[in-house]
Amino acid sequence: MTDRLKERLADGRVARDTRLLGDFARIYCSGKHPDREKRPLSSTGVELGVYGKAPVVCDECAALLVYAEKRRALCPQDKPGSAKPFCSHCETHCYKPDMRELMRDVMRYAGPRSLLHGHAIDGLRHAIEGRKHAAELRRREAQARG
Ligand code: SF4
Ligand SMILES: [Zn+2]
Repeated sequence: MTDRLKERLADGRVARDTRLLGDFARIYCSGKHPDREKRPLSSTGVELGVYGKAPVVCDECAALLVYAEKRRALCPQDKPGSAKPFCSHCETHCYKPDMRELMRDVMRYAGPRSLLHGHAIDGLRHAIEGRKHAAELRRREAQARG
């Protein structure tokens, strides 16, 4: 565990996003992988207590979470003074293709269902951010057309 990773995971916003990823992966894994063997996640974030209780997931979802935990903590888009975009709206997506694909599936499946799991605020933030992102893209396209 690097000091940098530890330090970033201790940041409130990083911890909040990481905990949300854990909840999404848990919802996804229990819905999509009901027959797989599951165990409590083992990761730096778990060691530091960012999830509260360690998410119980299959090996594939655990690998995604360990990977996403590190990406989020060391995100190059997370700069002081500017809000980090949601990964799904990020222009410099730092995920490798297979992890990106799996995370897309997780978000698509767990996003709407998370509203039933007490994540209404995060769901709304995501919707608002998505609308802003679409408006920004339209603005750039209009600008490019002159
Ligand atoms: S996808 Fe973009 S916003 Fe998400 S962690 Fe990577 S660089 Fe940061
Ligand atoms: Zn799974």
